[in-house]
Amino acid sequence: MMTELKYNGYKVEGVGKGKADYYVYTDLCKGCGLCIARCPMNKNGEQTCLKWSKEVGLFQTPAVEPDPNVCIACGTCALVCPDSAIRIEKK
Ligand code: SF4
Ligand code: SF4
Repeated sequence: MMTELKYNGYKVEGVGKGKADYYVYTDLCKGCGLCIARCPMNKNGEQTCLKWSKEVGLFQTPAVEPDPNVCIACGTCALVCPDSAIRIEKK
């Protein structure tokens, strides 16, 4: 029988113009910053999309959070996260 694992974290609703919800699992995020470095919207000019959060991750380091008004729900951050700490659920 499969057991579903539950992680602590938080949800940012309505990213990508309301197309998706964005989950960050603080039990998994180790604060490496790879997702922030790879977010295409962070490289796109003055706006910052994915940034450090006030929420704390695995090693008491900051976790991350997207600006829902800038995030395009492209999934790059979830793909590059080595710890699967980000999940983007399309509605
Ligand atoms: S889904 Fe794309 S745009 Fe949104 S935070 Fe992740 S990398 Fe950035
Ligand atoms: S979500 Fe993943 S890639 Fe981003 S800082 Fe946390 S562990 Fe690193």
